[in-house]
Amino acid sequence: MKIKTKLTLGVGLLFLLIILLSVVGAKYSNELKKDTENILVANYQTLEYSRNMLVSLEDSSKKGLDKFELNLQSQEKNISEIGEKEATVELRSNFETFKRNASDKLILSALRKDIFKLMDMNMQAIQRKSEVAKATADKAVFWIAISGTLCFLIAFTLLVNLPSNIANPIKELTESIKQIADKNYAKRVHFESSSEFGQLARSFNTMAEKLQEYYNSNLSKLMMEKKRIDTLINNMHDPVIGLDEQLKIIFANEEAIKIIGLNQSEIIGQSAQNLAVKNDLIRTVIQDLLTSDNASGFKSKPIKIYANNKEGYFEKETLHISITPTGEETKQLIGHVIILRNITEYKELDFAKTNFIATVSHEFKTPISSIKMSLQLLENKEIGSLNEEQHNLIESIKDDAGRLLKITGELLNMTQVESGNIQLSLLPTNPNEIIQYAINANQVQADQKQIKMVVDCPTKIPEVLADSEKTSWVLTNLISNAIRYSYDNSTVLVNVTEQNQKIQISVSDSGQGIAPQYKDKIFDRYFRVPGTKKEGTGLGLAISKEFLEAQNGNITVESEFGAGSTFSIILNKAS
Ligand code: ADP
Repeated sequence: MKIKTKLTLGVGLLFLLIILLSVVGAKYSNELKKDTENILVANYQTLEYSRNMLVSLEDSSKKGLDKFELNLQSQEKNISEIGEKEATVELRSNFETFKRNASDKLILSALRKDIFKLMDMNMQAIQRKSEVAKATADKAVFWIAISGTLCFLIAFTLLVNLPSNIANPIKELTESIKQIADKNYAKRVHFESSSEFGQLARSFNTMAEKLQEYYNSNLSKLMMEKKRIDTLINNMHDPVIGLDEQLKIIFANEEAIKIIGLNQSEIIGQSAQNLAVKNDLIRTVIQDLLTSDNASGFKSKPIKIYANNKEGYFEKETLHISITPTGEETKQLIGHVIILRNITEYKELDFAKTNFIATVSHEFKTPISSIKMSLQLLENKEIGSLNEEQHNLIESIKDDAGRLLKITGELLNMTQVESGNIQLSLLPTNPNEIIQYAINANQVQADQKQIKMVVDCPTKIPEVLADSEKTSWVLTNLISNAIRYSYDNSTVLVNVTEQNQKIQISVSDSGQGIAPQYKDKIFDRYFRVPGTKKEGTGLGLAISKEFLEAQNGNITVESEFGAGSTFSIILNKAS
């Protein structure tokens, strides 16, 4: 039965019984009232009149007769019993006789007899009516007791059953909901009634079943996805290491395990900082995570690692993983992924290329030098005189041989830079000597374009700590560029300034200048500003930068597109 029906029935029945109880009570009280009124009005008053009449008989004066008359009249109006009327009529007739002859003892005694008869009649009536009233009262008690007992039984039944009927299923349901909240999706409730709780239990069980199904399917899906990602990471040819936000290693693929040189169990779950104490590789790869300089995706210089009896080169990329947790707005760092890209193959190819260029350039140098010497001999008048055309051809071959020599020189320098084998001999050098060497080396080129080279150098300039050959090469290259990228009849200014512990040598021209977007790129190897018509390799500035940095110096550029450029080299003072 439904709770609503139960409640309606129980409370409704109680309500009906209360009404019944009230009706029964009211009915019997009314009946009792009527009965007592009956006794009071009809019989008790007759007794009163009769008593008054008996008292007034004792007084034979006029006052006594009047009083008798008054009470007799009242009695005549208060006839209620069978035979009472006849007795009253007889009393009246005897009273009339008595009024005429008050001394007649017989009449007096007849009057008294009549009054006693009336009294007797009414006394009997009172007795009879009291019995009727008593029976009514008994009936009332009986019916009220019945209704009261019923009321009590129903109220008691409701009191005992209703609270537990409602509270117990709610308690069980609350307990089950708690279990579900604790992920115990196997929990079910069993209310066998067809009440609302029964329906609720069925709905709850369906919900729990669906949750269980959903949870299981999601779990297996997640496990599947995890396996997929694990396999993917394990099959990667590059070593991958995953760390949580506390720098605890959470995964490392097989390639990573190989190069780290420890077992999986010795790595996973361990603090990378602790492992770094005894493992060089881990120390190297987490170094930037320990400092504030840890921009995501930052690629460092290649790391040389010796593993599996061979040397390998790896480029490290660190990714910082952040997520926005559900319900929150700010991102939260949850870990880092370190990818070590294996670039050994490219490095080997690069070495081969550098070696090849070095060999070829070296092999080219000797024949080119001998061509240049032969050309000089050809120009010698003692060997024979040349006509105008032959002279021009020799000049052209000389130019090309010079250019070839410059290129092979640059390539050779480049191989030094690429192999990291820059041979330096740092000695105190007079900047003037370097400048003079570079000016002389570019004199012919400047003359060809009628370009004036002006040197502005203080007479007393301190020496610089530099490799004079390489620095001269750099300055020669800068002046050569200034001449090449300037217009005819212009001036190239070489300016020397002293700044604290540094000496700055600047080469300024009023040539075409460099567009702002290329200013950072001109120091990259093989880069040439698009549209540059002059011949060149794009290596001069890159080599210059490497040469200067190797000497703890620097090179900078300031340029206004269309107005000219100033390249400055900064060197350390000798003392
Ligand atoms: P190269 O001169 O052989 O091309 P560099 O490395 O010396 O190589 O120079 C790189 C590029 O920078 C040049 O191709 C040129 O476009 C630009 N550049 C260098 N010096 C100047 C300069 N003084 N004025 C304008 N552009 C220059």
